[in-house]
Amino acid sequence: MNIFVPGTGNPYAKILFIGEAPSFEEENALKPFVGPAGRLFDECLHNAGIVRSDVWITNVFKQMIVPQQKFGRKIPAVVRAEQAGLNVQESIQVLRTEIDEIKPNVICLLGGTALWALSGKDKITPWRGSILSLWSYKCIPTFHPATLLYGEGEYWQKYIIEFDFRRVLSQSEYPEIRRPSRNLSICHNSAQLSDFIERNNDKDKLSVDIEALRCIPVCVSLAFDSIEGLCVPLWNSTSITRISDIPSSDLASIWNILYLLLKDKNKKIIGQNFKYDQDKLRRLGFVISNLYSDTLLKHFAISPELPHNLAFQTSIYTEEPYYKDEGLEFDYTKHDISDLLLYGAKDAPVTWEIEDKQEQDLVEVGMHDFYYNFLMKLHDLYSDIENVGFPVNEKAREKLLRKYISWSERLSYELFKYADAPINCDSWQQVDKLLYEVMKIPRRQGTGEEVLTQLLANVVKKDDQKKCITNILEQRRVNKTIGTYLMAMNDYDGRMRTACYIPLDTGRTSTGLQDPPIRPYVDNFRNLKGKIEKKKCHGAAFQTLTKHGDVGGDIRLMYSCDPGCVLLNIDSSQAEARVIALLSDDEVTLKLYDTNDIHALTASWFLGGDEFKYSKKVLGYECPERFLGKTLRHAGHLGAKGQRAATEVNTQARKAHIDINISKAFADKALLIFHNKSPKVQQVFQKGIIAQLEIDRTLIAPVPYGVDSTIGGKRTFHEKWSDELFRQAFSYIPQRAISDNTKASALRIRERLQDIRIVVESHDSLTFMVEINDLEEVGRVAKEELEMPISFKTCSLSRRDLVIPAELEVGTNYKELVKYKV
Ligand code: URA
Repeated sequence: MNIFVPGTGNPYAKILFIGEAPSFEEENALKPFVGPAGRLFDECLHNAGIVRSDVWITNVFKQMIVPQQKFGRKIPAVVRAEQAGLNVQESIQVLRTEIDEIKPNVICLLGGTALWALSGKDKITPWRGSILSLWSYKCIPTFHPATLLYGEGEYWQKYIIEFDFRRVLSQSEYPEIRRPSRNLSICHNSAQLSDFIERNNDKDKLSVDIEALRCIPVCVSLAFDSIEGLCVPLWNSTSITRISDIPSSDLASIWNILYLLLKDKNKKIIGQNFKYDQDKLRRLGFVISNLYSDTLLKHFAISPELPHNLAFQTSIYTEEPYYKDEGLEFDYTKHDISDLLLYGAKDAPVTWEIEDKQEQDLVEVGMHDFYYNFLMKLHDLYSDIENVGFPVNEKAREKLLRKYISWSERLSYELFKYADAPINCDSWQQVDKLLYEVMKIPRRQGTGEEVLTQLLANVVKKDDQKKCITNILEQRRVNKTIGTYLMAMNDYDGRMRTACYIPLDTGRTSTGLQDPPIRPYVDNFRNLKGKIEKKKCHGAAFQTLTKHGDVGGDIRLMYSCDPGCVLLNIDSSQAEARVIALLSDDEVTLKLYDTNDIHALTASWFLGGDEFKYSKKVLGYECPERFLGKTLRHAGHLGAKGQRAATEVNTQARKAHIDINISKAFADKALLIFHNKSPKVQQVFQKGIIAQLEIDRTLIAPVPYGVDSTIGGKRTFHEKWSDELFRQAFSYIPQRAISDNTKASALRIRERLQDIRIVVESHDSLTFMVEINDLEEVGRVAKEELEMPISFKTCSLSRRDLVIPAELEVGTNYKELVKYKV
């Protein structure tokens, strides 16, 4: 029998919270939100300054429904309620009556179920933080606190729940919705555009945003403040649809006015993820002279750990409800083009408002100088990197394709023999059946890489079982190599390009395919099976191209250089490990990086013998033992325990086809030895980081050379107090120090060598495409700059400056690079 748990609280409340359904504790107490989710809820209320007894708290369903945790996947609450025998419509009616009795000024919808009950919308993420009108009440959806309990949510979400609760509190003072006032219009002629610019002549910040249809820019939206947005169509029609009724002659005037406006050095241009807009505008001949600020980068400066898309920022910095669907859902075959143009017109003033409010936050967190003197400069650097790209050696690609396809077929055939049927390695059902039923391998939860690696390391003893698992893992990697690299499409001029994503929470950058709207989907792509499909397959992620290992290691062969040029690569040597030695105050170890083969030495601690037995210099290659020393040292630096370290070693080894496999017990022992030999890693570095987290959960990275700022990149860690939090925190300063050193060096190299072309930035390395005659000069300048001192003075763990040696390599393709000395 389902127990009815009624809503509770102050019947005159101005704020009403709605959850999903009671659980066991709530049934016992006959009150909502008193169990583990309730305790988190209370904490968020408290931190937001809301007093629980002041508000009304209830649930969509007043009786327990089948808990989500009973299922391996997400099942909507409605289905779980029906399975529990509840009448959904009746429950919603009861809720409506209850709300009408309280008549709150604002309702806070906790999670997707409450949002769905009042609006029919089923996705919480886009709508969270929006002020909506539902059932004639002002409503604000936010994440359900329980998502943090079951590993579904990420811990920054708690910080956002508290932020939303604060909005709920301020909105509870009045019942009506006060929307930001915006005046949005579509430009119909050049006179209107001139008038708009003239009227705003005294304002220097101009927000610019483009909308594209099938990757063709169709309009430019402009805003000189947070109120007025003007969307300027660029065409009267494109090959797919009509855009405006402006005659071509007047369009020419519009283009001219726009050109002069964007080129005006006195106008500070601001945008959101403007690298994309700028590239599109450049292709049309527009020049941006004074790009001042980018909200994506600015957000990264303020809180790198939070999502940075415009929808999220809009929800944090403005009271504009989520409107991104209006653009995403635009279909030129069904909708009026003015829908898209007005949607574009909104983006510009919203971006202006966000940028303006971010400025206050930027100053508050002390990141003003770091942002303007460093981060903002990365915009041009990465735009240029995206533009360079590799010429592709198509003959090498063809050879590689043949090799990988026959490799894949051979593996398929071997798997077929085990299963007596074709096996798709990416189908978990088929792999599950093959491994746990046909091959009778002891069942584990899942068929992912980590699970299979652990089975290989600790469980499976029979040869055919081992071979079967190895085969599956290998086939996945071979197929991925074919799909993501060998079948990747060149850009339209025949070069292979990458898309750069500057801000990751770690401070690193990443690269990816050129997804729409950068480049369009290819509608009739013929896949390997000859089938025609729609595919996004322009470009490739350069940073994830494996360097070592048999699968994928040779893909770099097809990335070559222009005639008369060579590829010059520079990387900081054992960079992060050196930073950790510095942060550990361990000058003895720091010196060893210059004088010894420290990974070989580390291996000798675990395996006996001496450093020379495993030395790369002596042997001329990296032996498995050295690899083991290196990987376990890295695990020790980041506070890994035995199980994690063993999995790391085994997974990496298998990827690189290194014949090594260690148990948890071995890793436990090795880590003990490591920390005995290098006690300062725990006692100074890790202890120091934890002490900083205890103060304010914030870490500050060092300042790269030449950057005029008193502090480096800042990150706050919202994660639960756990080993995972420590792992992320231990890696933050070393990673950020190296990543920022590489980026700042690239900026300085560009200042010294105006025409320099950088093809790849990959955390601790840069790859240039240089004319042979310039090789020596570029090599010298690059080495000088990468080896400039990094200032740790104002870093969370204050230390002396550090110089990290850099090594050069050169070659005519991206794989066969040989050492180069200047
Ligand atoms: N989760 C809910 O949604 N409601 C409760 O009352 C408790 C947990």
